[in-house]
Amino acid sequence: MTILANAFDRQWEDCRAASLAAAERVGASGWYILGREVAAFEANLARHCGRAHAIGCANGLDAIEIALRVCGLDPGDRVLTTPLSAFATALAVLRAGGEPVFCDVDEDGLIAPSEIEKALAADPAIRFILPVHLYGRMADMRAIRRLAERTGAIIIEDAAQAIGAARDGLKVGDAGRFACLSFYPTKNLGALGDGGALLTDDGDLAEMAKSLRNYGQTEKYVHAHQGLNSRLDELQAAIMNDAHLPRLEAWTARRRAIAERYLDGVDSAHVRVAAGAALQASVWHLFPVFVDRARRDAFITHLKAAGVQAGIHYPSLMSDQAALLERGAPIIAAGGVARASRIAAEEVSLPIHPYLSDAEADAVIGAVNAWAG
Ligand SMILES: *Cc1c(COP(=O)(O)O)cnc(C)c1O
Repeated sequence: MTILANAFDRQWEDCRAASLAAAERVGASGWYILGREVAAFEANLARHCGRAHAIGCANGLDAIEIALRVCGLDPGDRVLTTPLSAFATALAVLRAGGEPVFCDVDEDGLIAPSEIEKALAADPAIRFILPVHLYGRMADMRAIRRLAERTGAIIIEDAAQAIGAARDGLKVGDAGRFACLSFYPTKNLGALGDGGALLTDDGDLAEMAKSLRNYGQTEKYVHAHQGLNSRLDELQAAIMNDAHLPRLEAWTARRRAIAERYLDGVDSAHVRVAAGAALQASVWHLFPVFVDRARRDAFITHLKAAGVQAGIHYPSLMSDQAALLERGAPIIAAGGVARASRIAAEEVSLPIHPYLSDAEADAVIGAVNAWAG
């Protein structure tokens, strides 16, 4: 039996009764788009995240595009971000009409304040900073906020992997004008399909985001903006509100317990576990380890033979993807992206999810420690 990266069968078993009741309620209501379920979920999500407003939308990609547009991104505006993320991060910048500028990361895989500082000094035209809270770890938002204040750059947080994360007294969304969430099923708070949300404390920005997600409508049949069709379904909102959001705290606690077990148990000359500043407050969306780049495939094959499904996040930098290269050479910030390239070549993600048992975690540790390198 393989130890999978996710166990949706177990999640469904646990959430089945509440999810079916939610589906029954929505079906019987006869109201399927932007009704009381989305409103109730948004209110609970905002409360859970400690923000004044949550705005549901169709996915995390759209959440980032909408956030950039609400904050006044003009065509060609430069958006400083990390090259080490799901491609949606860069794609959202392009979709909004912006120009991504890629900046190196720290040992945790997070956009590095020292690199942001260099990038801003070299290019005063950078108008936005889009940090990604990768692997469930929060970027150093205290430092990033200080740097942004110097130049007036606007911060949007890509928190798709980091709902509930905090660091140095700041939580997700404290430093950004918006924090963007994804409810893709593998995320810490997933839907039974696609979904996303924006978090903000600003009522005017929230209203504009609500308009953009719904054709740019300001009232029925009045279109003030060129918006998207990016609505969160009533069905997904109801299921998340009744079955998933109430479990999120326990799910996160379980991820942290497994991470502790891995941190205690993994002991190998050939496998490095990052131990940077952001680990303690991580919500452990993923558990990355690092191996020699020339031996990574062999390590993954070894794990597979031991019944462990490993992943890679991410095998290529966004700045190396054809979709970007076809537009011409992507803009790399002044400090280069050497550390991000190294992580892309060396990273392996071990299974971590709320339904992983202690015995399975121990089996993963055993398989890792048994690797001869
Ligand atoms: C998943 C993810 C996204 C995109 O979310 P979708 O809901 O799949 O569009 C964006 N950024 C990061 C860091 C992600 O992990």
